[in-house]
Amino acid sequence: LQSTLVHAQKVKNIGNLTGGVAHDFNNILAVISGNLELLEERISEPLARGYVQTSFRAVKHGAELTHQLLAFARKQPLQPEVLDPSRLIRDSLSLLRTSVGESVDLEVVTDGGLWRTEVDKTQLEAAIMNLVINARDAMPNGGKLTIEVGNTRLDRDYSQLHYEVQPGQYVCIAITDSGCGMSAMTISQAMEPFFTTKDVGKGTGLGLSMAYGFVKQSGGHLKIYSEIARGTTVKLYLPRAKASQEAPPSPLTAPIATRF
Ligand code: ADP
Repeated sequence: LQSTLVHAQKVKNIGNLTGGVAHDFNNILAVISGNLELLEERISEPLARGYVQTSFRAVKHGAELTHQLLAFARKQPLQPEVLDPSRLIRDSLSLLRTSVGESVDLEVVTDGGLWRTEVDKTQLEAAIMNLVINARDAMPNGGKLTIEVGNTRLDRDYSQLHYEVQPGQYVCIAITDSGCGMSAMTISQAMEPFFTTKDVGKGTGLGLSMAYGFVKQSGGHLKIYSEIARGTTVKLYLPRAKASQEAPPSPLTAPIATRF
């Protein structure tokens, strides 16, 4: 509990600070972008057009970064809703597929009779996207990415191993890559806001921190299992929706695995 509170406080402080800066920065980028557009219309020399296009790309990257910072700083309350997790993954698949690129073999494995969970849909989609992007970045030469969705009961033994975990029923979304893996040192810092091992301009260090904050706030847990040169699994444990709000479980009886 202590570590969760410290994390939440840290995130709040940094959020307050970055929110204002990101907002102003976004306005500046909009001015640059508008002027680049005007400039592009007026020049025909190929080399000069190339410079403009490179500037455009840099502005676009800056805009993505500020977008992430704003999302991080936003203090909107979560809006939980009852969700079918396998449906959510299915609906995001084409976007996930394009995000990982051709060199990654993407497989989705869904258990039959899945429970519903009750969390903020937009935040869950963002968390999954962040984890999938991390998996892709860990496999620059391609590899295998598996998304597994299943019902999980965390028992007291597991809770004793991971002291802050509440025993109970969860929907587990596990994202596994066959990438570079993380050292014990990286694992211990990975959920800190702004911790990144990626090159400047590549990582913000906010993906895992945001995913962790969202999952904890929703009453769930996030766990990282990783081994250098073998790969990483990040598990999101999302609380099972209360029985009264639950739709009937999805009708599938046998587990299915699909390659995309
Ligand atoms: P970012 O991806 O912008 O660096 P994150 O908070 O998402 O920020 O991740 C923090 C760090 O954790 C990454 O820089 C990387 O070192 C490590 N990491 C996260 N996911 C993975 C993964 N699937 N495989 C290897 N390392 C990872």
